[in-house]
Amino acid sequence: MKTILIATKNKGKAKEFEALFYPKGYKVLTLLDMDENLDVEETGETFEENAKLKAETISSHFHLPVLADDSGLIVDALEGRPGVYSARYAGQEKNDEANMQKVLAELKNVPDHKRTARFYCALAFAIPGEETRLYKGTIEGRITKEPKGSNGFGYDPIFYVPSKEKTMAELSADEKNEISHRAQAIRYLASDINKIL
Ligand code: IMP
Repeated sequence: MKTILIATKNKGKAKEFEALFYPKGYKVLTLLDMDENLDVEETGETFEENAKLKAETISSHFHLPVLADDSGLIVDALEGRPGVYSARYAGQEKNDEANMQKVLAELKNVPDHKRTARFYCALAFAIPGEETRLYKGTIEGRITKEPKGSNGFGYDPIFYVPSKEKTMAELSADEKNEISHRAQAIRYLASDINKIL
């Protein structure tokens, strides 16, 4: 069987890709399966740059096809922040609670109709010797006044999805997977897969 490496240490993320690649004769590995620990610093200014940087660096190191994603929250009233700094917005890496509180504090005096935001996901697929392919997905919503719901991760409790009349953290994993920015980017990749492999 041929191999595809997903640039993540998150097994849940890898599972989403398995269904796509397994029928094509590819087994899916994650960074947890590799002997070497390769940390790529996300120095890009856009989600696309970061996803591409991660996919290409890891692909050329291991000589394997590599899929990498970079995602985050874009808030209009904050001129696009937290953006590529979503994971470390309040300073510490991946402190979801502190990150949410910082966004809420910055939006304190911003009225409902100006609290528009979107989640964004860029997916980069790097194959040795080929031009890297990029796919993106977004979901539109609004930042709430306080956190609600306990599913999901990151900014989900403060991200209201109008079509569902719920925050992202009030949706089940299946419901989120139907509409999320990441799911949408994966669908674009899926529709391209027969051309690529
Ligand atoms: P990464 O692309 O996995 O590094 O994610 C970057 C950061 O963006 C995460 O740590 C979260 O803060 C935020 N983020 C990305 N996707 C989501 C999501 O689906 N829900 C909530 N927050 C997200």
